[in-house]
Amino acid sequence: MELIFCHFGRKRVLFYAFIVLWGGWGGCFGVCFGFVLTEMYICGLILSNIYTMENNQPQINEHNKKEYPPMHTAEHILNATMVKMFGCPRSRNAHVERKKSKCDYILEQEPSAEQIAAVEAAVNEVIGKHLPVTVEYMTQAQAADIVDLSKLPSGATDTLRIVRVGDYDACACAGDHVANTSEIGPFTILSHSYADGVWRVRWKVVEA
Ligand SMILES: [Zn+2]
Repeated sequence: MELIFCHFGRKRVLFYAFIVLWGGWGGCFGVCFGFVLTEMYICGLILSNIYTMENNQPQINEHNKKEYPPMHTAEHILNATMVKMFGCPRSRNAHVERKKSKCDYILEQEPSAEQIAAVEAAVNEVIGKHLPVTVEYMTQAQAADIVDLSKLPSGATDTLRIVRVGDYDACACAGDHVANTSEIGPFTILSHSYADGVWRVRWKVVEA
């Protein structure tokens, strides 16, 4: 009896015993049914905890878009390049697709042909360095010095997934990336336009 108490907890055993005595056979049936459901639920909780621990995947925001990793990783490099060269924010309404993509940057004036060529060259230089793309998880407080938290979407989880492209770029992102920039082909600017303080650039990467 002591063993049963130990395993199931004294209060739970007494509760079931009380129901059986009070409710007779009907209560007994109800208790057995409830017992099975309760134990299944507890087993489920334990299993899901073990699963979470084994996979070591902290809870982060849902990510529903499936990117093409070379294009999406090139977007990170392009964003970092634009921030470094022009001091502008990262593109917030990028459309990154498998064949070609576009990003918008808020700039005070239209970049010159030389500056645009320099952006293309800088992105290709980073790709050519074969930098590792790594992922680590940290709290928003830990990430405060690394990424601009003001750019996080509202409702972002406290745990952030920080994606680094070597030491060139770090940003919070839940998307799919290549493991190394060597997997990204040459970056090419296809066309660009400037209107109302926004520079729109259309670009692609060739399959590596
Ligand atoms: Zn990303």
